[in-house]
Amino acid sequence: MEKSLIILGSTGSIGTQSLTVARQNGWRVTGLAAGSNVDLIEQQVREFKPLKVALFSEEAARDLKARIADTDTAVLSGISGVCEVAESEGDLVLNAIVGIAGLRPTVAALKAGKQFALANKETLVTGGSLVMGLAREKGIKILPVDSEHSAIFQSLQGAPENSLKKILLTASGGPFYSKTREELGSVTVEQALKHPNWSMGAKITIDSATLMNKGLEVIEAVHLFGVKADDIEVLVHRQSILHSAVELVDGAVIGQLGTPDMKVPIQYALTYPERANVAYERLSLADIGTLTFAKPDTETFKCLRVCIDAINRGGLVPAAANGANEEAVRLFLDRKISFLQIGDLVEAAAANQKAAHNYTIEDVFEADRAAREFVISHFGG
Ligand code: NDP
Ligand code: MG
Repeated sequence: MEKSLIILGSTGSIGTQSLTVARQNGWRVTGLAAGSNVDLIEQQVREFKPLKVALFSEEAARDLKARIADTDTAVLSGISGVCEVAESEGDLVLNAIVGIAGLRPTVAALKAGKQFALANKETLVTGGSLVMGLAREKGIKILPVDSEHSAIFQSLQGAPENSLKKILLTASGGPFYSKTREELGSVTVEQALKHPNWSMGAKITIDSATLMNKGLEVIEAVHLFGVKADDIEVLVHRQSILHSAVELVDGAVIGQLGTPDMKVPIQYALTYPERANVAYERLSLADIGTLTFAKPDTETFKCLRVCIDAINRGGLVPAAANGANEEAVRLFLDRKISFLQIGDLVEAAAANQKAAHNYTIEDVFEADRAAREFVISHFGG
């Protein structure tokens, strides 16, 4: 299969795994973008020889430009540079930027009519109805990279329209499964960064520990699959083998299983509707033995409940919850707030946001800014 790819967030956990998949399949990479990691993106430029590369940081972009002056790759900078890469020559854009920073590049790629694979769930959490509307207008199917959404998407292949009854969204439960609020009071950054099953970037690893990640994924699923939050059942499944499932109107439950390896959903998004004859680690159910399922504890892990409330209220509330979370996670990683304060701040900032349906992209950024400011002015007490 001939394919040329543009990878946004190429230096991150998903970005580097996407480049591994591109290498394995022999695909061309025509564009790369990241935040500020000059060393790694220089190596990537030398290996993949893209036409364009962008770094969000102006200073890092200047450095990169000097370092790769001997190559034919054009260097761009700032958010406009990242968006220009998203619109540039190439068949498919994969957005693996972390946070709301991915929203404008998503819009740029869709406006340019690109095939589009999405890891950056914050795009849909913050700008969901705008982004889905734009994709519909352009006739673009958003291909999910997030493992659960990929599993749902895979499980729905062949299901007739209107046959989806319910989504079973699985969650590993994170490193603090079954802990009480009291026990969570004293957890450290190091403990929160140790995920039992997945190796991921720092922000999503903390989101997995608070269950914010599952809340963001409920919102992501509402937009991607056109369902209500009430039609999504979150199930704690400690082994991360069933990546999610769907229940159809006739009661049949169809799911996708596999080892916890993001290269599988990344590759499917990049080959859809085909399947690549390239496999990574194979699943042995006999070795796994037991799969378990339980209800999540949304009293202790309040972020999940806050996100469900946020999507039920709709409008700009999810953007506020997301912005507050991005800021609170940064403060936690900087050791300025405790683990439990993340959920408290996200809850308070979301409650402070008016729903305001019919919003514009500028309204989304304003809600994000206001929520961050709310967190900064309230975290001290
Ligand atoms: P990482 O933190 O590992 O990587 C983030 C990437 O985004 C880096 O390339 C970073 O560049 C880049 N970046 C950050 N800010 C900007 C910016 N302003 N402009 C351009 N690029 C920027 O994150 P992950 O790979 O873990 O996650 C990426 C996304 O995928 C997230 O939305 C996450 O929720 C989602 N996801 C991740 C999974 C995983 O297994 N990791 C699983 C499912 C979803 P630099 O390195 O230069 O800072
Ligand atoms: Mg996921």
